[in-house]
Amino acid sequence: MPLSKSLVWFRRDLRVFDHAALHHALTSSNSVYCAFIYDNTILDSLPRADRRVEFIHASLAELDAELRQLGGCLIVRHADAAQEIPTLAAELGVDAVFVNGDYEPQAIARDAAVASRLEADGRRFFSYKDQVIFEKSEVLTLAGQNFSVFTPYKNAWLKRMAAEPDCVAPYSVEPHAARLAPPGGDERLPTLSDIGFEPTNLSALSIPTGMSGAAQLFEDFIGRIADYGEARNYPAVKGPSYLSIHLRFGTLSLRHLVRTVTELIARGAGGEGAPVWLSELIWRDFYAMILFNHPHVVERAFKPAYDAIVFETGPEADEMFAAWCEGRTGYPLVDAAMAQLNQTGYMHNRLRMVTACFLIKDLGIDWRRGEAYFALHLNDYDLSSNNGGWQWASSSGCDAQPYFRIFNPVTQSEKFDAKGKFIRRYLPRLDGLSDKEIHAPWSVPPMVLAQKKVVLGKDYPAPIVRHDEARVKTLERYGVVKAG
Ligand code: FAD
Repeated sequence: MPLSKSLVWFRRDLRVFDHAALHHALTSSNSVYCAFIYDNTILDSLPRADRRVEFIHASLAELDAELRQLGGCLIVRHADAAQEIPTLAAELGVDAVFVNGDYEPQAIARDAAVASRLEADGRRFFSYKDQVIFEKSEVLTLAGQNFSVFTPYKNAWLKRMAAEPDCVAPYSVEPHAARLAPPGGDERLPTLSDIGFEPTNLSALSIPTGMSGAAQLFEDFIGRIADYGEARNYPAVKGPSYLSIHLRFGTLSLRHLVRTVTELIARGAGGEGAPVWLSELIWRDFYAMILFNHPHVVERAFKPAYDAIVFETGPEADEMFAAWCEGRTGYPLVDAAMAQLNQTGYMHNRLRMVTACFLIKDLGIDWRRGEAYFALHLNDYDLSSNNGGWQWASSSGCDAQPYFRIFNPVTQSEKFDAKGKFIRRYLPRLDGLSDKEIHAPWSVPPMVLAQKKVVLGKDYPAPIVRHDEARVKTLERYGVVKAG
């Protein structure tokens, strides 16, 4: 029996096309309301200027405009979402609330609380898969277990995709748009200041927002996807897609990305880059699956033996951590990467690996501190991918590589930023150094440095740690794992 009225609660899916929950609500209800809640249980913990909040704010304006074009509108509230959704559902008199599912433990608990409040009021709660291609335990080993290593997971994922191409079929919205409830008279979107936030440098950075921003970035990327496999390694090069913030907030459809890329691959048109990029999207599914099935990773190591590691603590470690956060470690690639993060909210993937390894294995600091710093500063912050990346760097996660793989920050710099182009962009005070000198200024004779107007400890920090010594210490520290 069709539902009379329903409510679609938008969260990480800020678009009107190819939207599972919206599709299901429209095809099963006579009238559909749409809502977004600025959840103050999350917003209250953020600094007052936060690029992600501004990104959401701008993307909601476009979502509302698109819904209005289709005959509906977006109801936006600022409240505790777990309380507000049942209240709004009662105000609107809907029979059911539709959402796209989330795999983070806190979101799962919130949704369970909302579902039970709705149920107590005689309303229903429907949750759909939308954020990933395969969720929970949809991709299993032959023995019926969840995977814990990426490559076999990826092979099984690809096999399942090939067997079930419909899993990326789009969910239509527009043909059913007549069922969108028309806007009430007094609905207006809150301004940033209404929700207690200030503008950031988001527009100065020209980060495109909303569905149109995502489409523009994807179109640009498809034009250069063939080169992705190689270009993605070099932080000074426009190699990656920069779509992560859009994947985070669902201003694009993952199904659409996967459809497009698999079609390119099938036509032999995506060069070497398209399969590599698809693989990155599969990493995203993989980490969401890991988080869902192993929620202990939020607090602890994926591999329990790694919980025995004792990291540095105390004032010296705190000072080291502050130097890392502020990009004053004396290692130019690390410092430039942290400057990129602090100034823009983005950090190139290779640099995420380099800075994370540096914090854990050169400074001996607990990966959870770095993870929390990234969580606060990354525009694309996503619990599952961030945690996966940090556990990878600490060797405690789903990785077949041994823990003694320790990145050398200087060799990484020489290899992936050979001419120091990226370093020069973020550390202009080192611009006078040659392509060879820029990776390790401390190894340049002070007289030569002085000619180039760089005094170590004044114009640029001396290295806060020696990599060779730190490496030995880390191998000792990680020895407890070997023993365990
Ligand atoms: P592209 O190279 O164009 O990749 C396309 C998409 O694939 C990305 O947008 C992302 O959704 C996915 N992807 C790519 N690499 C990975 C990966 N290693 N793991 C999971 N998904 C991936 N990614 C986040 O989205 N949010 C995070 O909070 C996050 N934290 C990270 C922390 C560390 C320590 C590390 C090593 C990696 C982290 N990543 C995170 C993964 C990766 O660095 C970013 O997804 C990528 O840099 C985003 O840029 P892009 O969209 O241009 O990527």
